[in-house]
Amino acid sequence: MSRAKEFVPEVEQVLKSRGEPAYRLGQVYNALCSGLARDWEEATSLPKSLRAALQEEAPAAVLELTQLSRATDGTRKYLFKTHDGHLIETVMIPEKDRRTVCISTQVGCPMACRFCATGLLGIKRNLKAREIAEQVFVAARDVAPERISNVVVMGMGEPMLNYKELMLALKVLNDREGFGLAARHIAVSTSGLVDKIRRFSDEPEQFHLAISLHTPFEEERKEIMPVASRHSIAELMDAACYYVETTRRKLFFEYTLLAGVNDQPRHVEALAELLDHPLYHLNLLRFNWTDTGYAATSKPEAKEFLNYARELGLSATLRPSRGQDIDAACGQLAARDLRPQRATIPLVRI
Ligand code: SF4
Repeated sequence: MSRAKEFVPEVEQVLKSRGEPAYRLGQVYNALCSGLARDWEEATSLPKSLRAALQEEAPAAVLELTQLSRATDGTRKYLFKTHDGHLIETVMIPEKDRRTVCISTQVGCPMACRFCATGLLGIKRNLKAREIAEQVFVAARDVAPERISNVVVMGMGEPMLNYKELMLALKVLNDREGFGLAARHIAVSTSGLVDKIRRFSDEPEQFHLAISLHTPFEEERKEIMPVASRHSIAELMDAACYYVETTRRKLFFEYTLLAGVNDQPRHVEALAELLDHPLYHLNLLRFNWTDTGYAATSKPEAKEFLNYARELGLSATLRPSRGQDIDAACGQLAARDLRPQRATIPLVRI
């Protein structure tokens, strides 16, 4: 139960001060991660007096759900307020046979990618493991009796800058005694912190990894992703190679197509050389509008880019954009929620 102790330290303190038997911690952990309790009254395996004490001293929910928006394509966006008044966002994307939750790991993000709304916010703080995992629990309550099939760590923040809390949250999500989601259904996306990519490669769980590349050219990458000044593309590809050699798992490269910036044939040609490995996969995304001064490559041009990439032997896909009408698409999180809202649905207790 050491994972539970780390995950809910304040609850453990309450149990300890009351002299509760050791197995209570397991019951609490189960009530939160498997029972998805947001109020201790729902944790009926616990004695009434303990529920009352916990209600006072260590609430079951650490995030307050302040708004739920629904896009015409069924995508749902959750706006949460943290205990210290920060706003974070989570997105649930329903597909035919999948329900994917995209979660945040930081309040804002310090990486300042030029095309990203979250990057405009700067960084306020890292989220705790419980705040990270609870985003999934709330989405799971929302879609019940259907189940969450995938978790992607691609929301607000650079997850690798919050490594310890990230890994604890993912382990809880993966834990059979916790949320119970298979590791291969969990993916983390990084802007390319090479030391953390190596560390992640050495983790025993089979979590997937995605690297945001966005251009195969050094100078261009520095322009749109300040992190590129810290790590060259050659260093990044070394770390990528370490990941696939160590894990033998597929590695995804995220590539947001920006009109006139990184969507030319010369980009495809350079990508074909750079990503020449059977375990590398190129994920093309169309840019979702943010007031950052960039524009989206048109659909036909994005398809042409994809076709040329495939022609040159790359394993590549063009991902459909989801949730655009509620600003829930990739790179759109948070900035607009500080403004008047639209397309919301009444808040239901989930
Ligand atoms: S794209 Fe990701 S890493 Fe870059 S600023 Fe946005 S949230 Fe941060």
